[in-house]
Amino acid sequence: YVEKMQQVASKVYIATDDGSCGTNGFVTDVIKDLIEQKKYHYDLVIAIGPMIMMKNVTKLTKQYNIPTIVSLNSLMVDGTGMCGACRVTIAGKTKFTCYDGPEFNAFEVDFEEAMFRQAMYANVEKRTLLEQEEKNHICYVGGVTSEQPSRMKRIPIRELAPSYRAKNFEEVCLGYTEEEAIEEAKRCLQCKNPQCVGNCPVKVAIPQFIAQVAIGNFRQAANIIAENSLLPAVCGRVCPQEIQCEGQCVMGKKGDPIAIGKLERFVADWALQHLEKNSNIKMHKLQKIAIVGSGPAGLTCAADLARKGYSVTIFESLHLPGGVLRYGIPEFRLPKEKVVDVEIQNIKQLGVKIETNVLIGRTITVEDLMKKENFSAVFVASGAGLPKFMNIKGENFNGVVSANEFLTRNNLMKAFDKEYKTPNYVGKNIVVVGGGNVAMDAARTAIRLGANVTIVYRRSMEELPARVEEVHHAQEEGVQFMLLCDPIEIIGNEQYNVKSIRLQQMQLGEVDNSGRRKPIPINGVEKELLADMVIISIGSTPNPLIGETTAGLQIDKYGCIVVDNEAKTTKKGIFAGGDTVSGAATVIMAMGAGRVAATAIDNYLKKK
Ligand code: FAD
Ligand code: SF4
Repeated sequence: YVEKMQQVASKVYIATDDGSCGTNGFVTDVIKDLIEQKKYHYDLVIAIGPMIMMKNVTKLTKQYNIPTIVSLNSLMVDGTGMCGACRVTIAGKTKFTCYDGPEFNAFEVDFEEAMFRQAMYANVEKRTLLEQEEKNHICYVGGVTSEQPSRMKRIPIRELAPSYRAKNFEEVCLGYTEEEAIEEAKRCLQCKNPQCVGNCPVKVAIPQFIAQVAIGNFRQAANIIAENSLLPAVCGRVCPQEIQCEGQCVMGKKGDPIAIGKLERFVADWALQHLEKNSNIKMHKLQKIAIVGSGPAGLTCAADLARKGYSVTIFESLHLPGGVLRYGIPEFRLPKEKVVDVEIQNIKQLGVKIETNVLIGRTITVEDLMKKENFSAVFVASGAGLPKFMNIKGENFNGVVSANEFLTRNNLMKAFDKEYKTPNYVGKNIVVVGGGNVAMDAARTAIRLGANVTIVYRRSMEELPARVEEVHHAQEEGVQFMLLCDPIEIIGNEQYNVKSIRLQQMQLGEVDNSGRRKPIPINGVEKELLADMVIISIGSTPNPLIGETTAGLQIDKYGCIVVDNEAKTTKKGIFAGGDTVSGAATVIMAMGAGRVAATAIDNYLKKK
């Protein structure tokens, strides 16, 4: 880069500490020399490079009171604001390097902390991952028994035994066989006024597809589901059916509701194996539509618009598509190759283009997509991937990570697989803070990586927001629960590593706005729990990047994009949906939002 630097600078000085080029010495030696020569007046110093160099440059320029900017980009992992690994203390406040920086006023940077944080994975990178234990046995829990099944009881689903699955990332649920699916489908009453459908955000024709399963016509069942759901193998696995379709099933009043989710999964898996893929649909409309984000909202909107004949391009900041389906939900709940890749490929077959490694707002703005790249409309489906932290003392110690960072290293970057080089810091005694599905995923992942895991949650078991199935699986696999406890401080050692967490004992008070009993501190009752890793899983919000780089886009106080009931934002031609509008929600809600937006975009372009 010497020649390139010479093109933009009137003077270029080079320093190498082995003398292989330019001055034999440090950058600071050259700067000091230049300042002391007093030939020029220096208004600003910009230091970009190794942390130790930036720290020493800052120490020097401070002596001469020369304003200094440093770029902390070397702290960043993915640069998209979805993991919090690049946390740094600036003027006493925690900032994310990727979107608050990467350039900062050097005099405000806590370099000591930044250097410790940068070294967090140094040892891990040297360590080889533990050999996975050999498969010794698989215990199929449940399954069809020789006894006559009762109509009120659901056909049990086969799962890997906890002792076996807690050591690997194989999918826990094994799904129904054809015979089991038919038996379960026969339980459906085929209600004239089916309550289940009303509670499905994408309105799958549930009784109709179940009727086809009951007579063994799986092809027709798959066609019926495909009319409304584009990711049925995903939804059948991860949708919270117990509070949606199954929550309203009349069979649930006196017995078990129909296993709608497991039947959907069965049909979708059968279709992936037996049916031909979507064929390419020829584009017949000239308009181009851009979609930001390749999660369930973006994928659904893209597929619907492609079917309507538009030319659709999805821009995704990560190197692989899928959003949370790819980086958040673990392999043992949602296999990537077998399910996510195949369902995304099916959407691509409709003619949808996916451009990865494009961070909208940095690589190109939403407005430039429309003005310079001639997209007629944009659908923003960038999710809610920015992790929240607790803002308590000690949160920046090494070993304290967001659930997003921990899960991304495993799911997207495959740190659990020894074929991959991604380092992952895994403690022996891990505390996971939070009680939602994300906390369960982080805890169950940590168990599989060989840790003792305790979930710390400030309410009781009854208020846990995670799905009952997830909590049950976590308990079976050995995750401990420490309830009615709220973290108040994280304590570290002199090497800047976490060593314990201080907890405030809580009790439950009256029901609050969330409909759950409010946790109230019991003054003076605290405890300390030893932990060499703390995973924070207390929620996430939309990344502010799109809002900050798109003039006129209204954002509410929670950081969500404001839309009307047709997914229209306050800016003409720009639509939004999924978690970036609702805040962290569910896959099926995001898909429903993608669907609404596709219809609205079609109507908008027809009138244009
Ligand atoms: P996302 O899936 O978040 O996708 C957004 C995409 O946009 C991402 O790929 C992101 O990289 C990309 N992006 C962001 N900013 C930009 C930008 N500026 N430029 C380009 N691309 C960008 N829901 C369930 O229903 N069941 C579950 O079991 C479940 N488990 C979950 C487990 C975890 C660990 C997590 C984190 C969430 C879980 N959820 C679950 C919630 C569910 O996954 C989300 O509600 C859903 O994925 C939201 O879809 P989306 O398309 O709005 O956003
Ligand atoms: Fe079948 Fe239950 Fe739906 Fe009735 S409510 S149609 S029993 S799945």
